[in-house]
Amino acid sequence: MADDRFHVYDTTLRDGAQQEGLNLTVADKLAVARHLDGLGVGFIEGGWPGANPKDTEFFRRAQTELDLKHAQLAAFGATRRAGVQAADDPLVAALRESGAPVVTLVAKSHDRHVELALRTTLQENLAMIRDTVSHLRAEGQRVFLDAEHFFDGYRSNPAYALEVLRTAAEAGADVIALCDTNGGMLPDELAEIVQDAVRTSARVGIHCHDDTGCAVANTLAAVKAGATHVQGCANGYGERSGNANLFTVVANLQLKRGFELVPQESLAEMTRIAHAITEVTNVTPNSHAPYVGTSAFAHKAGLHASAIKVDPNLYQHIDPAQVGNDMRMLVSDMAGRASVELKGRELGYELTPEHTKALVERVKDLEARGFTFEAADASFELLLRDTVHGERKRHFDVESWRVIVERTKGGELVSEATVKLHAKGERIVATGDGNGPVNALDKAVRQALEQLYPELAMLELVDFKVRILEGTHGTDAVTRVLITSSDESAEWATVGVAENIIDASWQALEQAVTYGLLRAGREC
Ligand SMILES: [Zn+2]
Repeated sequence: MADDRFHVYDTTLRDGAQQEGLNLTVADKLAVARHLDGLGVGFIEGGWPGANPKDTEFFRRAQTELDLKHAQLAAFGATRRAGVQAADDPLVAALRESGAPVVTLVAKSHDRHVELALRTTLQENLAMIRDTVSHLRAEGQRVFLDAEHFFDGYRSNPAYALEVLRTAAEAGADVIALCDTNGGMLPDELAEIVQDAVRTSARVGIHCHDDTGCAVANTLAAVKAGATHVQGCANGYGERSGNANLFTVVANLQLKRGFELVPQESLAEMTRIAHAITEVTNVTPNSHAPYVGTSAFAHKAGLHASAIKVDPNLYQHIDPAQVGNDMRMLVSDMAGRASVELKGRELGYELTPEHTKALVERVKDLEARGFTFEAADASFELLLRDTVHGERKRHFDVESWRVIVERTKGGELVSEATVKLHAKGERIVATGDGNGPVNALDKAVRQALEQLYPELAMLELVDFKVRILEGTHGTDAVTRVLITSSDESAEWATVGVAENIIDASWQALEQAVTYGLLRAGREC
């Protein structure tokens, strides 16, 4: 991993942060950097010091607050301005003074961009590259070069695009990353151009955007063609359609192509790390993401269930544990006994034929009433426990609950909930305020139980989904509520169905709390 033959270079904090709606504080950036280091990437591009005050601060704080085990920080910046010396350019000085061991310089490699955007000559652009690279090298930093718009540049003027590569390499740049800045390339043509670039004897890297949906495929094609440095972003963050998803790239290269890029045990943390980063970025995780999505190994069993039971590898491309994910069986009314049995086994229960039969009947009955267990694993597990152990003993019994919603004189909506519960032989009455009725109920339940079960402080309600289901066979419409909760290490979902939305929410909430207590080791 410490060897330099192949680079995994992350640019989440610079290019990924360009994603619409993504806004990272310096503390967020430090947190993301720690997660990426935990995965074992080789380089973390922290931002553009000097051009962006937040990034300057990131590099300053990183020196004392980041204790990186695997990764080296890279500072990103441009080559010197036209007509000055690199040594005199204040933006180059900011890179020099960033404290980062690596500087990644962005340079134009498309002749039209040099003339129209930089408004200088092709010769001066080469001089800017030569001067800036050799200056930073002489000052003791390692230098990589991002050749911007390289592929479009190659189409426009291949000789010049390749000259940029040669110039940077001769001046001392260790890697020239070929950037598909507009993201318009397809793998076959891209691979041919990479092969041509590799012939210059410069060490070649690849930086792809996903505008054709091929960022990962293009990255792999470039590696096949000789690139030994891959750039990408956590969870495929980036502007427009995003950058190459670094997690997918690493998993593909390591599991399918035999590269040893990150330690095996870190690869097995990839799913957790991908989700931990979404907590920092506050971007909803993509459940269909390859390798790390919650649906990446989820099977709607039906016909296949009995075969999956015999050999799960017939239905999955890798063992999900290699990336820290799990195979999940979705329990749906499409599925019969086999998938319920499988799901039971996944949860650690060996079900007898009688239990399976009883459980299938309960699932079918509840699904007919609007419940769904595909997205509510925790509700299914509670149902399974009831079936196996008999109606479960409860951590708490509910006597009653009440919610009031008030629009105040000032026009603010406030909710107040009161719950009356029995737990551990006590009768408890508690109230909670919230910005909505479910929030108020949640707070009231915690208020009531936190004395008896302090571990509830870890429990967090992370998502709340409501769906109105049309009535069938002359019945009224019902409301289905799915609540996702989390503690320090996992997420789980529960479902409630009722005519009244608050009643449905309450059911899901009560199960969420019960499941959280079971996870914390509280048997009742
Ligand atoms: Zn980019």
